[in-house]
Amino acid sequence: MEYYGSHISRLIEALNGLPGIGVKSAQRLAFHIVGMPKEQVKNLAEALVSARENVHYCRECCTLTDEELCPICRSEKRNHRQIMVVENSRDLAAYEKTGRYDGVYHVLQGAISPMLGIGPSDIRLKELMQRLQGDVEEVIIATNPSLEGETTATYISKLVKPTGIRVTRIASGVPVGGDIENIDEVTLERALMGRVEL
Ligand code: ZN
Repeated sequence: MEYYGSHISRLIEALNGLPGIGVKSAQRLAFHIVGMPKEQVKNLAEALVSARENVHYCRECCTLTDEELCPICRSEKRNHRQIMVVENSRDLAAYEKTGRYDGVYHVLQGAISPMLGIGPSDIRLKELMQRLQGDVEEVIIATNPSLEGETTATYISKLVKPTGIRVTRIASGVPVGGDIENIDEVTLERALMGRVEL
């Protein structure tokens, strides 16, 4: 990409290093950025740096937050005896948007994946087990219905069961508008096992 000059090449390369941004998108973004008003670019750069410097993991649930404890862990209105285990902060946000859950969360920051070399010690499982020494009634496992998510769910349920704490798994089935033949067997099996009487 020498024909772009080193400054813009460096910007394209940096953007290309982000997840989901291919070379073409990186080029489009880079040219957009160099055409933006300088003040706006400065704002963007400062937002990036300040987010990186000020955001860290909640001491309790390991979600990303500005404070030592996230607003959910701080809240007295939440049921702290019910913990929903999710893979990342985006999943937490998705469940929060439903407005139907008043327990707290535990964010694993990943899922077990033997294929990618991600083992149980690479996600926030130790922190979860420490929390279970407190007053906890139920652990709801809400990892994704993918191979990694299922592997993680099985692993966690084996860890939690000996403690006597109730372990549940969210029901997940065929998505509305989904085509059964294009749905993998894990999803279908779960859909079948989680079936209800009509
Ligand atoms: Zn928290």
